[in-house]
Amino acid sequence: MNRLCSRSDIAVLAEFADGAPLPLATEMLGLARRLADETGGAVTAMALGTGMAGAGDALLAHGADRVFVADDPALAPYQADAWMAVLVDTLRDLAPAAVLAGHGAVGADLAPRLAFRLETAAVTDCIAVSAEDGGLRFTRPCYGGKAHEVISVKTAPAVVTLRAKSHAPAAPDDSRRGEVVALSPDIDPAKVRTRIVEKRRDTDDGQRLDTARVVIAGGRGLDGAEGFQIAGDLADTLGGALGASRVACDLGWCPPSRQIGLSGRTVAPELYLALGISGAAQHMSGCAGAKTIVAVNTDAQAPIFKYCRFGVIGDCRELAAALIEALDNSAK
Ligand SMILES: Cc1cc2nc3c(=O)[nH]c(=O)nc-3n(C[C@H](O)[C@H](O)[C@H](O)COP(=O)(O)OP(=O)(O)OC[C@H]3O[C@@H](n4cnc5c(N)ncnc54)[C@H](O)[C@@H]3O)c2cc1C
Repeated sequence: MNRLCSRSDIAVLAEFADGAPLPLATEMLGLARRLADETGGAVTAMALGTGMAGAGDALLAHGADRVFVADDPALAPYQADAWMAVLVDTLRDLAPAAVLAGHGAVGADLAPRLAFRLETAAVTDCIAVSAEDGGLRFTRPCYGGKAHEVISVKTAPAVVTLRAKSHAPAAPDDSRRGEVVALSPDIDPAKVRTRIVEKRRDTDDGQRLDTARVVIAGGRGLDGAEGFQIAGDLADTLGGALGASRVACDLGWCPPSRQIGLSGRTVAPELYLALGISGAAQHMSGCAGAKTIVAVNTDAQAPIFKYCRFGVIGDCRELAAALIEALDNSAK
């Protein structure tokens, strides 16, 4: 394969589920499009899996100039060795400035391996990328979310993982045209050293946190599973999703899949209602992208009042119950 890219090009590793790109893939394409437009580069998206018939058009619509599709049963579900067999040579030839992957289970596993194989550097868990002085700068939280560090990488391509909800997706435009290249992977099964032994469905059937417009999050101040029941009822009444601080999850009041923060999920709803959460930096790093934060806390000095738009000093269980009642009454 010829050298197809220039060093200002960006490659995006787009993950798919049920034939559609994950929201994070479209967010990364939005970022890549903006960077490429600033630097005069191009955006190449890469999609690996099975049943990828519509992948090319979907990724072109979301901002890619060119899409490489590898459609092979050996590529789904994700297996590091199988994906490496496709990615390493292709990316060596493409030679982009950066490869963007989502900071999820796949990206976090893949990025260091890919960087090692490409003899370059990985920068994980980024929340921003900018083009400056002819290079790229990567920003990520450090010191438990209390500060941000800005990193530049001397080698290329920089292999970067990006947090969900840190960038707006590119609005899909079905009239966008570009090249779709089908890759023919040659994967040696003997070299795929891991296999999925068992898959377990998350038993948590509440509304998805990452796409929720309203998140009702509870902390230690909810004082137990009973308090979380009230918070859950309020979430249902508002058509929102239930979230929690780490303490609340550790205490078993809420499933760990609902944890928001540095070591949990990142959310960016229109409304984030924090009930009995103190506002530790590690928690706030997971909800800083919320449009409006409302906090309810008995302690007027609680740090969360520095972050919220509206603050209520009072008992969160009482307030949640009163809100449910008021909303129920107004619906009658
Ligand atoms: C490496 C690392 C990673 C971490 N990752 C995360 C993470 O991902 N997510 C996360 O949440 N934390 C995380 N933490 C923990 C974090 O530092 C805090 O300990 C945690 O967020 C505190 O949870 P909380 O606010 O529920 O509890 P607390 O800090 O104990 O706060 C409880 C609050 O409830 C208030 N309150 C008490 N009673 C009431 C009432 N009746 N009504 C209203 N308010 C009341 C109190 O005034 C207090 O402000 C991490 C920590 C570390 C070191």
